[in-house]
Amino acid sequence: MLEKSKYTIEYFINGILKKDRIVLSKAITLVESTKEEDKIIARELIQFCLGTKNKSKRIAITGMPGAGKSTFINSLGRILLDKGNTLAVLAVDPSSSISKGSILGDKTRMDEIVNDAYVRPTASSNNLGGVSRKTRESILLCEAFGFDYIFIETVGIGQSEIEVKNMTDLFLLLLIPNAGDELQGIKRGVMEMADIVVINKADKENIIAAKTAAAQVQLALHLYQENEKKWTTPVLPVSSLERTGMEKLEASIDSYFLKTETNGFLEKNRTEQQIHWFNEMIRIGMMEKIEKNSVIQSYKTELENKITLKEIDVNLAADLLIQKLIK
Ligand code: GDP
Repeated sequence: MLEKSKYTIEYFINGILKKDRIVLSKAITLVESTKEEDKIIARELIQFCLGTKNKSKRIAITGMPGAGKSTFINSLGRILLDKGNTLAVLAVDPSSSISKGSILGDKTRMDEIVNDAYVRPTASSNNLGGVSRKTRESILLCEAFGFDYIFIETVGIGQSEIEVKNMTDLFLLLLIPNAGDELQGIKRGVMEMADIVVINKADKENIIAAKTAAAQVQLALHLYQENEKKWTTPVLPVSSLERTGMEKLEASIDSYFLKTETNGFLEKNRTEQQIHWFNEMIRIGMMEKIEKNSVIQSYKTELENKITLKEIDVNLAADLLIQKLIK
């Protein structure tokens, strides 16, 4: 939460145009804020972001804890930075509302990029749709700022991945060899979402196991491959520690963006994502209105009691509540 209203819309816009990272951090804090006055400026700021021409490559990076996401981001990030690119890393941590600390965006494992890249662990909240709205808006801020690449790091366990898939261009899944259990931990749906699968920890001494794992995953992916973007998900062994396999990976990322830009998928996908978020915002906005209105809230409790007592069906109860809300 920002302490004072000295932060005007001009302050944020000028700071972003001047590529001031301190202002960017404050802007992200602003969109994360739940204070009404902050929300008003945040809305204006996001509107400004939409008007900027910058286009970042938005890449979701997902994998179970321990798969090596931070190490991988450190290695790939360094390579991209060395080629003159700019990079932002946003880490979405679904557990932080419980642990009160972020387990992602581990800066100690990102020591080689932390001085050049913009790394921001995003503590999630229990707010309705909070994680997704804030992350999406943070991405828009970073894009307006002009980063070439934006990585969004998440733990591959389900709901947050679907949300992140809906705000990125490329979904990269990190697996490790010899990981029967870990593979099971990755929901099938998450596998299906992947545009690139990386088998990490394919170190020199591990390469045979990594290649076997890659072949198995490739086989599993073949079952649901045909897609409108005309892209076949590659499965690439990489060692983030030894930095091997990175050239192929980079080439794959480039080729993905080239292909989806050329065939129009990238733009179409972003437009569809906008419509998705429009609908999502309506849903969230309606729920917030219900929560904030004491009359509606008590009517809701009354209906919930009736549902518990099996006196009313959920469909009818929902209709009644919506009717009351609209009145
Ligand atoms: P995260 O929880 O997914 O972010 O994983 P971390 O990046 O924190 O890595 C978890 C552990 O795996 C750490 O001990 C890393 O050093 C190790 N690790 C990451 N990448 C590799 C790799 O390519 N090879 C090996 N051998 N270990 C790795």
